[in-house]
Amino acid sequence: MKSYRKELWFELKTRRGFVNITHELERCVKESGIKEGLLLCNAMHITASVFINDDEAGLHQDFENWLEKLAPEKPYSQYHHNGFEDNADAHLKRTIMGREVVVAITDGKLDLGPWEQIFYGEFDGKRKKRVLVKIIGE
Ligand code: ZN
Repeated sequence: MKSYRKELWFELKTRRGFVNITHELERCVKESGIKEGLLLCNAMHITASVFINDDEAGLHQDFENWLEKLAPEKPYSQYHHNGFEDNADAHLKRTIMGREVVVAITDGKLDLGPWEQIFYGEFDGKRKKRVLVKIIGE
């Protein structure tokens, strides 16, 4: 069995945002030389997510609005976690949007559904953060 590991770095200029990382992960699969196996991709920070959904701007705005209703950023004082930090909402948003995705690799390619795209979700940006890519298989 072959194994491959890589870290991808991000630094968003905004507090929140979504980045389509599908092509970068496809490059990782190619680099790994693995034809049949599994790719795991997880955020290595507890205020960021990796998730699969549609690459459609309206939907991304809907996610932003929905997450702000569930866990509004402000007022910061509404959260017990805030004090030294102001990112309680980001921890909650990350929990809803998920930590990781696992995708099958078939014939050297990500075996995604027709509209499935993989995203990095940032909820407390303006600093360097990373995701782990681990691929195993033959
Ligand atoms: Zn925190």
